[in-house]
Amino acid sequence: MMFDAHLHLADESALLDIRMVKEIIKEAEKEGISYFLSNSLDKRTIDENIALAKEFPEVFLGLGFFPTEFKKDQDLHKIEYLKEKIREAKKEGLSDRLFIGEVGLDFKEKDANKEVQEKALINILKIAKEENLYVEIHSRFAVKQVVNILEDFQYKKVIMHWFTDSKKYIDKVAKLGYFITIGPKYLYDQNIFENIKDVPKEQILFETDYPANVSGKAHKPEIIKEIFNKYCKDKEINKDEMHTILKESFRKIFPNIKA
Ligand SMILES: [Zn+2]
Repeated sequence: MMFDAHLHLADESALLDIRMVKEIIKEAEKEGISYFLSNSLDKRTIDENIALAKEFPEVFLGLGFFPTEFKKDQDLHKIEYLKEKIREAKKEGLSDRLFIGEVGLDFKEKDANKEVQEKALINILKIAKEENLYVEIHSRFAVKQVVNILEDFQYKKVIMHWFTDSKKYIDKVAKLGYFITIGPKYLYDQNIFENIKDVPKEQILFETDYPANVSGKAHKPEIIKEIFNKYCKDKEINKDEMHTILKESFRKIFPNIKA
């Protein structure tokens, strides 16, 4: 069993619509990818993802705000919106397919408000804990800070999104028991395997971050099959065995879904 552990079926530029999403799912299913963890970025994509999850049983609903949505103290009000939408999703019968994402820290821009982003992340982790939901974590230019917060918080239901650049921190989060996702960049960059090779295969997930641009193009979820195949080859693991492992990982994240 394969699934896309991180993508955006409701995207920033609002280019995707229900018809296109249907097509994307259909093409991916032909390659054996059955489930899609669709992350939100802001209020609009939260609402669109709820609509998509209601329409498609294959879509898993990630509710969250991208870290740069928190620029000043007033932006922390968005956390109330998140709580409200979690309640709404539950009422709509989506609890079993629910997770928190995409959230975290992003210090790429010089004017990033680190303090407000950190406050927001801590508050969102509290919600995750209360609701007993997995969180998908973004950590661009903030790996150390993210790992420190998560470690202090002692929350284990964590998926580190696109977390393939620092061997030191990869080994650290692997020890903490988190999942780590590998994206399409892995197909182009052999250093990535060197970084992730010691992570137990039970903690490895595959993602596309679609429609993000990776090495010049957006990779649709059907490419998960190539990422999966390359991983099995590099790790010297039998594909059937890896399918079974992925299925168990999926069940850990969504225990009420019969995968
Ligand atoms: Zn993303």
